[in-house]
Amino acid sequence: MSKLIQLDGSSGGGQMLRTALSLAMVTGKPFRMTKIRGQRRKPGLMRQHLTCVKAACEVSGGTADGAEIGSTELVFRAGEVRHSSYRFSIGTAGSTSLLLQTLLPALWSEEGPSMVRLEGGTHNPLAPPFDFIQRVFLPAMAKMGAKATVRLLETGFAPVGGGVIECEVEPCAGFSEIDWTSRGGLKEKSIRVPVRELPLSIAGRVLDAALAVFPCEDAKVVALPEGPGRGVACLVEAGFTQGRELCASFGEQGMSSEKVGRRAAKMMTDFIGNGAAVGRHLADQLLLPMALAGGGRFTTMPPDNHVPSNIAVIEKFLPVKFEVSTKEGRCEISVTS
Ligand code: ATP
Repeated sequence: MSKLIQLDGSSGGGQMLRTALSLAMVTGKPFRMTKIRGQRRKPGLMRQHLTCVKAACEVSGGTADGAEIGSTELVFRAGEVRHSSYRFSIGTAGSTSLLLQTLLPALWSEEGPSMVRLEGGTHNPLAPPFDFIQRVFLPAMAKMGAKATVRLLETGFAPVGGGVIECEVEPCAGFSEIDWTSRGGLKEKSIRVPVRELPLSIAGRVLDAALAVFPCEDAKVVALPEGPGRGVACLVEAGFTQGRELCASFGEQGMSSEKVGRRAAKMMTDFIGNGAAVGRHLADQLLLPMALAGGGRFTTMPPDNHVPSNIAVIEKFLPVKFEVSTKEGRCEISVTS
């Protein structure tokens, strides 16, 4: 039996755990993580992390000790991953995107297709909105040879959730290396403001504020039909000849509509001004597939803590070495095996 990989979660958040679950399923190596989400105000497993652990157990026929709300220590052992049809409900507005990202590497590694239906949040702060998964993350994975198609069946805003997504996962023979240091010219830009059960004037103010920072012709408020809860988001997108970025912000109690609009638009103008090929969020999400490919590099914005904490986990599972260097405000991340 493989030796337990010992991981210290104190330098990051839920992503360290999700990366470990993905890699444990793909490599068959068991792990013990202590001090889970040690950097967060309320450490330990929350509902969305626990759902990831339980889903990983089901997809891989695995076992977990310490799988309880609030638990700061977990031992996970994967069994045999099975391609199949799965359905998981987070039970809160916890992110369906992050749950999907946890399962994808294992399902891609299978010989047959899978279908996954997930219920929870689809447009919540501090996680990739559904549109980011569909328009930025999955196209980046397709560049590396891993294909999946997602559908949004119901939008789920925080704090209620109730969103539903479906994903068809195609088998993938392995990730190919990327060399993504240029994004090419700007081809198209758009702003979408999905809104539900809030006055349309609020969405209009979000859109106007975003347009003041990031002018573009293709800009719309999208009034969603009645659904599980109210909310508003601002999705600012730019397509380049060699890539795509989508910056998002979300309405929150106490935050002005103008701030919501300006926030996403400002993230986009910062990205465009920086000249990097890959946005800050996609950067930390590319590390795992790039390590599984055994090599590759990309340029990005100066990274946040997700990059070093994720690298620390990946280097424990795989015989790879990352290098992160920053020059004139642009960062290059490469991995070799
Ligand atoms: P916690 O931080 O409470 O532990 P968490 O489980 O959500 O919660 P993080 O470790 O912060 O975990 O990981 C969040 C992930 O979501 C990261 O990959 C981050 O890049 C990504 N992310 C956050 N906001 C966005 C966004 N607007 N667009 C795309 N990705 C995002």
